[in-house]
Amino acid sequence: MGRLSGMRPFTYVRATAVRDAVAGVADHPGATFVSGGTDLLNLMKDSAQIHEHVVDINALPLATIDIQPGGPARIGAVARMRDVAEHPAVRSTLPVLAEALLGSASPQVRNMASIGGNLLQRTRCGYFRDAGTPCNKREPGSGCPALTGENRWHAVLGGSEHCIAVHPSDLAVALLALDATVISTGPDCERRTPLNEFYLLPGQTPDRENVLNHGELIVGVEVPTTPLAARSRYLKVRDRATFEFAVVSVAAAVELRGRQVQDVRLAFGGIATRPWRAFAAEDALRGRELTDDVLVAAAAEVVRGATPREQNAFKTELAQRATVDVLRALR
Ligand code: SF4
Repeated sequence: MGRLSGMRPFTYVRATAVRDAVAGVADHPGATFVSGGTDLLNLMKDSAQIHEHVVDINALPLATIDIQPGGPARIGAVARMRDVAEHPAVRSTLPVLAEALLGSASPQVRNMASIGGNLLQRTRCGYFRDAGTPCNKREPGSGCPALTGENRWHAVLGGSEHCIAVHPSDLAVALLALDATVISTGPDCERRTPLNEFYLLPGQTPDRENVLNHGELIVGVEVPTTPLAARSRYLKVRDRATFEFAVVSVAAAVELRGRQVQDVRLAFGGIATRPWRAFAAEDALRGRELTDDVLVAAAAEVVRGATPREQNAFKTELAQRATVDVLRALR
């Protein structure tokens, strides 16, 4: 039985086989997996998330980082953020991924936090993390005070009248721009989910953030290593230069033929309720030269249809400027 100050009692087991880890969570309605624990334990201490049983997955053989020439990168779910960010082949073939990881969290957190856990971290919305306030994501049906309250950090895209919280992962934004696939295994399934289909919009059920079922474990991610991926950048705009979540971030990958865009990916953090792919902006860039006029026009597509709130309207302008800046660096 583990117990920390302010934390409710829970039982703990350390799994040594994937099958046992999955069964250990699937068989307990209040159970969850833990790896680095850098987000989960804070949520449990604050009672923003309550679990009666925790299954430690750190002993599972899921820490490998495998990049063979010409093949996809395969990164295990319990590989540490630091190890992935500093891997020479990641830095050379998937620079946007290394940059996003190095721009995330503190060195201490990067030493502990895992790739799978990073993808499943919860929103930084202050109401969600304060168990004393209503929040539809934490307690469905209780309301969303952010709609009219503190919403400087919140989403301008993908929100609903039930939730406008942004997803906080830099890693997920980079993986989205790289066409990554999430590999998971559950009691009755093994499946591969394109990252673009992994996260759900809040709609009427903001408590459900991704397609995973209870007891389904992320075992790794697979990332194509393409010319597009090799020419990629991550730009993160934040309130201070260290250990801070994105106000706006953009992951961009561009493949040029001569001066024309052969292919392009643009994904955003900080502006939407899930990592956000800007398909219309990509369409505005394909086949074009990256002149300033083309960049500005594409950037306008990123925020078309945005719904700013009282405190976060600045994000629509900031996202466009970030788009132009990152694409200038890639032309
Ligand atoms: Fe909760 Fe979402 Fe509203 Fe934040 S924005 S208070 S997470 S429902």
